[in-house]
Amino acid sequence: MIKLEKIGKSYKADNEWIPVLKNVEMEVNQGDFLAIMGPSGSGKSTLLNLIGFVDRNYEGNYFLEGNIVTSKNDADLSKLRNQRVGFVFQQFNLIETLTIEENVELPLLYDGWNYRETKSKVLELLEKLGIGDKGKKMPKQLSGGQQQRAAIARAIINNPDFILADEPTGALDTQTSNDIMNVFKQLNEEEGVTIILVTHDPTTVKYCNRVVHMQDGILTEEVR
Ligand code: ADP
Ligand code: MG
Repeated sequence: MIKLEKIGKSYKADNEWIPVLKNVEMEVNQGDFLAIMGPSGSGKSTLLNLIGFVDRNYEGNYFLEGNIVTSKNDADLSKLRNQRVGFVFQQFNLIETLTIEENVELPLLYDGWNYRETKSKVLELLEKLGIGDKGKKMPKQLSGGQQQRAAIARAIINNPDFILADEPTGALDTQTSNDIMNVFKQLNEEEGVTIILVTHDPTTVKYCNRVVHMQDGILTEEVR
């Protein structure tokens, strides 16, 4: 589904170009649950943003289902971002001034759905993720685990092809972290959602079918 060829990226700091991704080669198949591990600053989030169509300034080629992504314009990239991918973050990134329901329906409204159509879809998904009674609450009124469930709902509401999760359990205790990993596992196994997970936590890796390591911008895959 995703193929990266010789991806390179540098940031400019003090008039010097600092390489952050070096010759990264990667293939992700439909249905993969892939972990990206590696120390802080090694380039994991940079890689995730590139895969998620947030960043277009890089070298090399990115193919999605055989189509070249690299040369697309901003409008096309933003369409891909809205329709093909769901992001989940460590700090949940819910909008504090909107209710849980309103947060989760945002991607649908961006996508041109009308307000009435979205209601039942949102409720059904919140129910499925175990927070069916929290739709009218504000994010701050929920626990960390419940907020992350809401963020996952927002990420998958428009049936993306893949989820990009950047240390999604980094702010959660062990039990809640396992609960959230089980939510991902269920989405992966029962609905075939492809998941790319950046994680520091070795205990989350057992949920994944592939593990790659990032070190100073170099990606290597673990043989298992
Ligand atoms: P990780 O997610 O593995 O912690 P990042 O991908 O966030 O690493 O960052 C990799 C390197 O790129 C770090 O050295 C970081 O300081 C640098 N970096 C990230 N984003 C920027 C940016 N917007 N401008 C300059 N340097 C950046
Ligand atoms: Mg990061």
